[in-house]
Amino acid sequence: MHLEPARHYWLPTPNPESGVFARHAFRGRRWESQPSDTTVCGIDVAMAAPTDLDWITAPTCADCNQTLISEFKDQP
Ligand SMILES: [Zn+2]
Repeated sequence: MHLEPARHYWLPTPNPESGVFARHAFRGRRWESQPSDTTVCGIDVAMAAPTDLDWITAPTCADCNQTLISEFKDQP
């Protein structure tokens, strides 16, 4: 078993203010059908089962991505 950074998963969720979908990272192994959670970049978002279109069209959140990359670099 190889080392890997803290577990996270990605889920397209709408921005609470604009409603625009983005693919954010969340702490945990997978979405457990909770109705809301806090993204790695610190936004409280509502969660719902994403459609295929959401996965295709939602851009990856740059802040989540950058946070995870910096955590990966900090691994021993
Ligand atoms: Zn994010």
